[in-house]
Amino acid sequence: MKKVLCVIWIAAVILFFIDWGMVGLSLLNGNYEIEIGVYLGLVCMVIIMIGPICKICKMLSNKCPYCGKTILSDWKFCPYCGKEVKVWK
Ligand SMILES: [Zn+2]
Repeated sequence: MKKVLCVIWIAAVILFFIDWGMVGLSLLNGNYEIEIGVYLGLVCMVIIMIGPICKICKMLSNKCPYCGKTILSDWKFCPYCGKEVKVWK
C-alpha cells in the first residue's frame, strides 16, 4: 500500500513538470485554452504537498518500544528513557 502511494507521488511529480511544461508551451504558442492543464497541475501540486506532510505525520507518530513516548524516527536514542531505538520506517 505504501509503495503504491509512493508511485502515485512520483507520478504526480513527473506529471506536474510535464503538465506545466505543456501549459508554458501553449502560452508561448498563443494558445490560452489551458484550463484543464492548470487544474491538472494544481491537483498534482496538492498530491506533491500531501506527500511530505504524511511523512512528517508518520515520523511524529513513532513511539519508543520501551516507554511508549512519541519520538522522531530519526532519533537514535529515546530522550525519555535513554534506551537505543532502532530506526524503523
Ligand atoms: Zn523510551
